[in-house]
Amino acid sequence: MEHLITPVSRSSQKLYAEVVINIPLQKVFHYSIPPHLCGTLVTGMRVRIPFGNKIIAGFCVGFTDTPFTDKTKDVLSIIDSSPLIDDVMLKITRWLSFHYYCGWGEAISAVVPPVVRSKKKERWNTFVRLKERTTSPVQDVLIQIKVRAPKQAKALEILLDHSAEINAKELIRISGCTMPGLRQLEKKGFVLIESRLQDTANTSRTIDQLQQHLTLTGDQQKAFDSICKKLLEPKPGVILLHGITGSGKTELYLQAITKMLEQARKAIYLVPEISLTPQTIQRLKARFCKVAVLHSSLLGTVHQSQWNDIREGKVDIVIGARSSIFAPLKNVGLIIIDEEHENTYKQENNPRYNARDIAILRATYENAMVIMGTATPSLESYQQAMNGNYEKIVLPRRIGERKLPPVDIVDMGEEVRKRRGFNIISQRLEYYMKQSLARNEQVILFLNRRGFAPYIHCKRCGFVLKCRRCDIPMTFHKKFNTVLCHYCHAETHPPESCPDCLASNINYRGFGTEKIEDEIRNKFPNYQIIRMDSDSMRVRDAHEKALNAFERGEFQILLGTQMIAKGLDFPNVTLVGVISADTILNLPDFRASERTFQLISQVAGRTGRGTKGGRVVVQSYNPRHYSITYAAAHDYEGFARKELEYRKQLGYPPFGNLTRIIIRGPQEANVKEKSAIIGDRLKEFAKINDNHLEILGPSPAPVTRINNLFRWHMLLKAQNLASIHKALQGNADVLKPSKSVQIMVDVDPYMML
Ligand code: ADP
Ligand code: ZN
Repeated sequence: MEHLITPVSRSSQKLYAEVVINIPLQKVFHYSIPPHLCGTLVTGMRVRIPFGNKIIAGFCVGFTDTPFTDKTKDVLSIIDSSPLIDDVMLKITRWLSFHYYCGWGEAISAVVPPVVRSKKKERWNTFVRLKERTTSPVQDVLIQIKVRAPKQAKALEILLDHSAEINAKELIRISGCTMPGLRQLEKKGFVLIESRLQDTANTSRTIDQLQQHLTLTGDQQKAFDSICKKLLEPKPGVILLHGITGSGKTELYLQAITKMLEQARKAIYLVPEISLTPQTIQRLKARFCKVAVLHSSLLGTVHQSQWNDIREGKVDIVIGARSSIFAPLKNVGLIIIDEEHENTYKQENNPRYNARDIAILRATYENAMVIMGTATPSLESYQQAMNGNYEKIVLPRRIGERKLPPVDIVDMGEEVRKRRGFNIISQRLEYYMKQSLARNEQVILFLNRRGFAPYIHCKRCGFVLKCRRCDIPMTFHKKFNTVLCHYCHAETHPPESCPDCLASNINYRGFGTEKIEDEIRNKFPNYQIIRMDSDSMRVRDAHEKALNAFERGEFQILLGTQMIAKGLDFPNVTLVGVISADTILNLPDFRASERTFQLISQVAGRTGRGTKGGRVVVQSYNPRHYSITYAAAHDYEGFARKELEYRKQLGYPPFGNLTRIIIRGPQEANVKEKSAIIGDRLKEFAKINDNHLEILGPSPAPVTRINNLFRWHMLLKAQNLASIHKALQGNADVLKPSKSVQIMVDVDPYMML
């Protein structure tokens, strides 16, 4: 790959530019370089090129003196004055394109944020906030305009909930209201709209304002010594830091960063989701001066100025979600992956990369060290440590000798029999809630399902209200009195009678976070509850505000979806309730047990962190499932042993490799036919070339239709990924999308629906 990096020489040898474009094709195109551009063009710059009968932009990825054809066209012009990506990123994107089976141009486009690619220099932002009014409170206005202008009403409602200014773009996205709609609200005197230049987020502090490091405990010191020893090796490799919740992993990351900075090298700190980790960011900013927080998992909103600051060396530490692994930081010596097991490190559109794998690759190229920390290592990482490829460091105890909380499993089947009916909150959970609340302590409740009722169902004819575009039941959301599809975001009015048989026996079945909120308000009217899910937390810093209010004790009960399972550190929380452990366990996914185990272990980690101790109550219809019993016993090793045995028997990761191919399109017949063609071809290929390769399917995907696209899928399974890569490369012709079907290849998939 080294030849890629050579700049154009002015020697007599004529060179051609190798150019890739943003299309799902692993193809490099050759263009001649006209004399006036020779010497100016280097790899990593964009060029304008004729392509078909259009003129488009492409990335220059290298040079060659042997073009595919002697009728090459000319590069028309060079777009950038300096390269957008450096040599390491060029290598990484090439690897991405091969490994994840996507276009090289697609990979580069994913790595360089659109704001950097666009020419805009300054970014103006528009903010909206409520106008203080003494007469006619906004609530009255809301009722008036709800009928005539429901979207404006929604925007007002969100502003009211949030009680601070909101970025106009964000408000438009969430409420569906348009900018003219917002302007009308302004005209009517309800809101203020203000535009100002976006400030860059780099808060620099002087050294003496910084917080000191904590004195490490014995366990931490031992771990830190191992880290430091490895850190100075020329090729330090990967450390798997397996520390139970509250064992002080974060402190180790911070001190490892200091060690790295002393070596004049820099650090990238990956977290599962940036908006959910305000505590970590606060700790990082309190200790270090030049920290850049990359605020979005989508590179689209990364500020150009921030990107430039990082590139120009003004930043020492970058913290952010998965895409931060591509940050243009120079001289990276350390990459931290906190909560390494989290699914959010996997990107669910092209290129479908896992930031954990990219981190290891980048560290190899830059001779940097990777520290992956977690209380529940993914089985992939655990197996790598068992094989000796990663160094494993264990922190077996909590700071301050705090005990892990006891976990009570409530058998919901038995509960239903005993109480002759279903209650969302079991007697045991209610009992412990009363106890904690009476002692002025706090409670966290967890349910992985948002909305009020996930099924709208007719008692007479059995009709279930499904989305018109997706094969999915719609969820009733009480607050906005609306019915939503959680897949395509379609919205409709709640039906008053059955759309099928016209009976008025419409029944709202099941429960989501919104319903539990109602239930808790009824049961515990004297306590304040705050709900955190993607409905209630749609505005950017809503999470941080909510968590701060909870920390200050303004709320006694925090209720939420998985967004509250990780990382939080509140000493006054003495009870965690898992309303249903079955939501994940019942998914058609080979990782369902692992994810259930992780979830219970993580939520258990949110309690017992102070001196008051803690307790966990897990409600389930599968109380004897090993993922639940091992989690209740805080026995990671036991769980891993059992789960690895199953995975081995079935040849699933970490013992085998999977790739999922999804075929989708508006006509089911076309999708089915294309699936059969691909399936037959791959099976034939496996038979002739590679009898270790298995093709499972094709069959309809578990969710058969999303957004009016029918979906089929198949799984490729092999001991070595090379078998799968060969099959994909060898059959690229049938894997090309056409007008009637789209084809998505997902190497090492996390999404099985
Ligand atoms: P983890 O990341 O493993 O869940 P944290 O790093 O959040 O654990 O540590 C748990 C708590 O213990 C935090 O409140 C942290 O400030 C505190 N802590 C960590 N290390 C020390 C130490 N060496 N001395 C005192 N307190 C510590
Ligand atoms: Zn839908």
